[in-house]
Amino acid sequence: MKLAISVCKSCGSNRIRDRGELPPLDPRLFAGQTSDVPIVAGHLFVCETCHLQFREPCLNDQQLLALYKQLPDTIWTDNEPRAYWPRIQNAINTYSSNNTLLDIGCYRGDFLAWMPASWNRLGIEPSIKAAQFAAGRGITILGATIEDGTVPDPRPGVVTAFDVIEHIVTPLSFLKNIRDCLDREGCIVIMTGATDTWPFRLFGRHYWYSALPEHVTFYNLAWFRWAASRLNMRVVSHSYFSSEPRGIRQWLRECALISLHTLVQSLKRLGIADRAIGAIPYGKLALSWRTVPWWKHSEDHILVVLKNNVTSDN
Ligand SMILES: [Zn+2]
Repeated sequence: MKLAISVCKSCGSNRIRDRGELPPLDPRLFAGQTSDVPIVAGHLFVCETCHLQFREPCLNDQQLLALYKQLPDTIWTDNEPRAYWPRIQNAINTYSSNNTLLDIGCYRGDFLAWMPASWNRLGIEPSIKAAQFAAGRGITILGATIEDGTVPDPRPGVVTAFDVIEHIVTPLSFLKNIRDCLDREGCIVIMTGATDTWPFRLFGRHYWYSALPEHVTFYNLAWFRWAASRLNMRVVSHSYFSSEPRGIRQWLRECALISLHTLVQSLKRLGIADRAIGAIPYGKLALSWRTVPWWKHSEDHILVVLKNNVTSDN
């Protein structure tokens, strides 16, 4: 298959490398919902200049936005506080320059509602139903995307985006738009999957995180440092962690399943017959899987805090 790409969508460099085909996906499903926009798995590319990894081909930001707008408010619900929220709250308390917090992709506002009421809570959310739900909780919704959000007064001392940037095709302009609405001494707090963690490195293009059709770009600390330098910002803090509470039994089970899946797919690629693969323990079972088993308990996420380079004369 000839791929219609020659440059990186983040930095425009032509130093991009094809890492191979991404796991197959159901072309009629998007974020677990039935969609009439066909989606192909495509290939995983890596940029040698800015270090971004990305899916290609993929829908553009406008096509993705149209799909997110239609999503119901029942997909990404958090009835219980997520285990990593205190970690994020700690970063916010350390680096925010005022008490106005803007959460991009706030969905139903679960995180914002969990934050203390002393915070002025603002949200940006494309899902119309989820945004309505958040507004009903007293959260001020500024718009569907950062591009059409009204800049609040005062400007937010912190802008957060959790599990969001991996859904963005053009991430540098996304970060620039956030920076442009931020208080000069404020901070940006981003959480996403990280390709510089060992599970991502080990499984590569077979990794579960890059098998979700709505995930189109994949990050690492080197990319955030590259992006920060382009925006006259700097990375002031970063840490790696699991987005799910860690239980060793679940961790081992998920690790075994994704390892089995990767082994079977590798054998198939080598031309080994299904009958021979079915003879290995659990080989028949793995051959029947249509999607990559998730390893949500692995330590494969990064939390990054960026701040402006503020000098004494500006
Ligand atoms: Zn690049």
